[in-house]
Amino acid sequence: MNCPFHILIYKSDIRSYKELPLRFFELGSVYRYEKTGVLHGLLRARGFTQDDAHIFCTNDQIEDEILNLLTFSIKLLNAFGFDSIEADLSTRPEKSIGNDDDWVKATNSLASALDDQNISYVTAHGEGAFYGPKIDLHVKDAIGRRWQLSTIQVDFSQPDNFDLQYVDSNNKRVRPVMIHRALLGSIERFTGILIENYAGHFPGWLAPVQVKILTIGEVSNYVREIVKLLKNVRLEIDDRSIRLGEKIHDSTKEKVPVSIIIGEKDVSLGTMALNIHNQDNQKDIKLEDGIKQIKNVIKVPKFNL
Ligand SMILES: [Zn+2]
Repeated sequence: MNCPFHILIYKSDIRSYKELPLRFFELGSVYRYEKTGVLHGLLRARGFTQDDAHIFCTNDQIEDEILNLLTFSIKLLNAFGFDSIEADLSTRPEKSIGNDDDWVKATNSLASALDDQNISYVTAHGEGAFYGPKIDLHVKDAIGRRWQLSTIQVDFSQPDNFDLQYVDSNNKRVRPVMIHRALLGSIERFTGILIENYAGHFPGWLAPVQVKILTIGEVSNYVREIVKLLKNVRLEIDDRSIRLGEKIHDSTKEKVPVSIIIGEKDVSLGTMALNIHNQDNQKDIKLEDGIKQIKNVIKVPKFNL
């Protein structure tokens, strides 16, 4: 886990209330000795990368921090095409540490953040960790499977264990609260879920290869011109001496969202043929028009994160 290291960074200096909330983020490598039988492709691996953050804040800041985190998670999941989001809110278990007031306040903050964002949730009574309540977000993929992704966890325990402090406005030393959060969880697992969700047909902005240029005959100068117009686009050129049908077959199998087909006639006319996933194939498209359409297909949406 990454928590202890962020705690050490927190402890590397005397902290004032003026610095809080302090937010530390990293894409951290973590390892778990999973049994061979439960390993499952990208979805469950022994080594993975967590988008992990820890927020050190005052008791009064918990509510705002949680609301910010939840809003951010939802926008992020929406950006990847997950619109159906549900939550579990796990409350205080019998064996737990911390005082009632803190638990009630933190649990209410989690609940009101969910209400604020109109996320429907199930309360899992007594299912919280012994050190604090948490929210787990679940998304539904394209065929209705439910996946757990984001976690937001309040922690009253580790600040105690590690004797974390900050100096408040009265010059007194006070305990901060810690919030653990992972939005996508494991990047590897999230990638697996995305592949499942899109059945491999990534939207243009996400596709590993966005455009493939399939050539017929000797058209390399013209292709070079097109490549120049598609700067910063992830593209591949298939100029093998095989039948066009095979090239189209391969490009379709690789689920590349855009295929450009260039023959010798296109060179003299300044045109291209265009196969865009989920659209009718087009022929004799003027170069400029084709490039415009392609840029539209692969454009990164405005996320407003
Ligand atoms: Zn943590």
